[in-house]
Amino acid sequence: NLSDRITASLKGLRGHGRLSEADVDKTIREIRRALLDADVAVPVVRDFTGRVRERALGEEVSKALNPAQQVVKIVHDELVDVLGGATGELAWAKNPPTVIMLAGLQGAGKTTLAGKLARWMKSEGHTPMLVAADLQRPNAVNQLQIVGERAGVPVFAPEPGNGVGDPVLVAMNGVSTARFQQHDIVIVDTAGRLGIDEEMMQQARDIRDAVHPDDTLFVVDAMIGQDAARVAEAFRDGVGFTGVVLSKLDGDARGGAALSITGVTQRPILFASTGEQLGDFERFHPDRMAGRILDMGDVMSLIEQAERSFDQAEAEKMAGKLAKGEDFTLEDFLGQMQQLKKMGNLKKMLGMLPNMGQFREQLENFDEKDIGRVEAIIQSMTPAERNDSKLLNGSRRARIARGSGTSVSEVNALLERFKQAQQMMRTMGGGMAGGGMPGAPG
Ligand code: GDP
Ligand code: MG
Repeated sequence: NLSDRITASLKGLRGHGRLSEADVDKTIREIRRALLDADVAVPVVRDFTGRVRERALGEEVSKALNPAQQVVKIVHDELVDVLGGATGELAWAKNPPTVIMLAGLQGAGKTTLAGKLARWMKSEGHTPMLVAADLQRPNAVNQLQIVGERAGVPVFAPEPGNGVGDPVLVAMNGVSTARFQQHDIVIVDTAGRLGIDEEMMQQARDIRDAVHPDDTLFVVDAMIGQDAARVAEAFRDGVGFTGVVLSKLDGDARGGAALSITGVTQRPILFASTGEQLGDFERFHPDRMAGRILDMGDVMSLIEQAERSFDQAEAEKMAGKLAKGEDFTLEDFLGQMQQLKKMGNLKKMLGMLPNMGQFREQLENFDEKDIGRVEAIIQSMTPAERNDSKLLNGSRRARIARGSGTSVSEVNALLERFKQAQQMMRTMGGGMAGGGMPGAPG
């Protein structure tokens, strides 16, 4: 990974004074190679290494860092800068609805994103509406309708069987319908082509001029790597956009697309799409992506390890118990919570990755203090009580609360949670495979 390569190239240097030009150039070569390997567009690599070189030569090596750490830090800071600095925000209309238009090549993930955005916004208390202005592909309207249904938001679509529709008209009608029905956000899905072509750009421009979007989001498949720079330039010049959405970040894209696009267009990446499900969606954080570019290899393998060890050990134990007809006890519940705690230590590191799917969500909901309380409560029970929670009458609960430094209502809440987990384990039978964690709070 990049930070190892930087460190290796500066091995043996002592931590004082300025870095020599020869040392810096050796490192810069390494950085250039790493970025090209990560599929970053050549002009972006050139700019980037130029700036890192300048800073590395100009800066006094800090006492706290060795030269390698110092350069890693410079590279990290520059990466964050190129990626847009702070986490980007959508522009909101003064008079709702806020109009968001999606643009990008066919297959980039626009329609999928429309559903993800809508679902997310709905969960934030907004009332989004989707508009099907892709009339290019026969199935496109239907696809958006399905997506809208999943997200639980209405979709404005042209009447079926009404001949060939006009996407500009549909977009306009959609936005005015959204305004009339007092939706506060309207997301306009548009058509793309496999390649960049003038007819598509003209259509996108016409839709833009008809609906005056507050935000035009350029959706791009992260897997296309440095090609993203060229496509982004074409869309910037053809339609213009205010923000970028990187899709398919769940694949093995290495950050090349992200750097290439922001390096070339100076537009922030606002969201990341990380899978085919509506929940596979997150805000894009430049500092996390920078961390990912610097350290991806290590962190990925750590996560894989953690996932493997949890799934196997715990799943086998539970499957064995349940197969023997034994019940899920408070002891087992505690075991599951402790597994979660182990992984919680990884939480911070995992936070650097935009790409954790369901596993990440469980950790997000996980609270260290919470686990500490659960441990204290269960450890204040006698073995008999742990094996049979029905023994836990009022006076025993009061004793446990005293013993664990918690309150009776906290003990009650825990037992409620345990009962739910137990119920779930019973209905699941031996089917623990897949690593569900019924003990997970939240
Ligand atoms: P559009 O042509 O730009 O509207 O693209 P679609 O939304 O139809 O997506 C094209 C294909 O990519 C579909 O099969 C989607 O399920 C898939 N897709 C979209 N976003 C993602 C993503 O973030 N990750 C993965 N793995 N697949 C995605
Ligand atoms: Mg589409």
